[in-house]
Amino acid sequence: MKTIFIVQILFLALFVNGQSTQKSEMVDYFTNNGLSSSVKTMQHPAGEYYKGVTYVAYQGPTVDPYVASYNHETDKWAGPFKAGESILTGRDPGMIDSHGKPAIIIDDKGYIHLVFGGHGGSPEFGTNTLGSSLRGKMKHVVTKKPLDITEWEELDNISPFGTYNQFVKMDNGDIYLFYRHGAHRSNWVYQLSTDNGRSFDEPVSILKTKKTEGTMEQPDIHDTWYAWFENGQGNDIIVTYNYHVCKEPNHDGERHNCYYMVLDTDKNEWRNVEGEKLIAPLTKELADEKTLVVNTDTLWTVRGAVRLDKKAYPHIIFYQGEHLGLIHGGSKQVIYYRWTGKKWMTAESTDLPVATGDIMVSSPDKASLLLAGKINGNAELAWWNTKDGGQSFKKGEVLYKGKKSGITTSAIIRNAHPNARVIISGNHKGDYKKMYLVGDNGSVKRLKVEADQLEE
Ligand code: ZN
Repeated sequence: MKTIFIVQILFLALFVNGQSTQKSEMVDYFTNNGLSSSVKTMQHPAGEYYKGVTYVAYQGPTVDPYVASYNHETDKWAGPFKAGESILTGRDPGMIDSHGKPAIIIDDKGYIHLVFGGHGGSPEFGTNTLGSSLRGKMKHVVTKKPLDITEWEELDNISPFGTYNQFVKMDNGDIYLFYRHGAHRSNWVYQLSTDNGRSFDEPVSILKTKKTEGTMEQPDIHDTWYAWFENGQGNDIIVTYNYHVCKEPNHDGERHNCYYMVLDTDKNEWRNVEGEKLIAPLTKELADEKTLVVNTDTLWTVRGAVRLDKKAYPHIIFYQGEHLGLIHGGSKQVIYYRWTGKKWMTAESTDLPVATGDIMVSSPDKASLLLAGKINGNAELAWWNTKDGGQSFKKGEVLYKGKKSGITTSAIIRNAHPNARVIISGNHKGDYKKMYLVGDNGSVKRLKVEADQLEE
């Protein structure tokens, strides 16, 4: 009898203790309702640090955009809140179209903007004069109040024909929205807002899509592009891009080369790395002649990221491999190039892993790549550093390590706090992902009861 009583007491104690542990249990993810390809480096920024708070955006349930925030001073999370409605939702049962994941930017008045939802734009929105249409609708939403992510409204002031939405904001508050104006066979463009995103000018073409010489087997070939934009020096915007051979019939993901150029937003002029003026939109011929970083010949590439060193020389990463495997999760060797002031140099270092990510540069010789991938069987986000201008790389701090594969990373957060440099996603249940905000101290923790957003 006495023994049973003690066991009962023990059980009660355990139960009570268990419950209290559960309530205060911390986890390393901030939500578990990321959907499929919830963040990538392409749609960026995916987050911005502003006045003590990191705001993050990602693709959540039914491919709608979600926003959460983390206050670095109070250690409190808010959200995620659904910020808009994507019409890419559920277009085919079982197929998730992740092309419209959100990019985020905070304007000079503190309103938070997202652009999302486009995969070329559905033909129902009319004729796409700058390319081909496909599906979805690129949309723009903004918070109803400054820095308050709970309520959003839609602004009808951008083209519906967008894919790969990216924001670049200048020091004077101008907001450039970059994207491909439609499906594959579309120009890359920007729209400029000089009034904190309340209106945007008409799209301006940067890279031109056009029919090119075909072959007997594939008579229908178009020059098309993938591009990634970022702030340069002063009022410059820099871009790295690659070339997609868009061919029919038997379309595939064939892409080659790496290119670089600069937009001087004061003069509204494009120039190449040597300062030579370029006429936009660039054709394939002009891009090859004036902006080529490297011709990869038969090797395929996936565009990466570019940042400047203190001499304003670009450092670029991209991914290179053989054929289809490259696009669909195959071997993606990271390739690093930098401009020396006279030429592009690479060591094509074999030290670098199969991974994707972003780059930070301090001096011409010192670059740090923040890369996510499967490394020695683990899902890892780690720094890979060079101190000799890219001739060799050494693995630095590991910021996140998980046993499950399937890790993907955003580009580096705008104005990132060192404790919150990127957003990564890792596998959860089915197509759902756990989302992590990761910096120099590892993941930013959150109460499990708050982070478990997905309904069981
Ligand atoms: Zn294509």
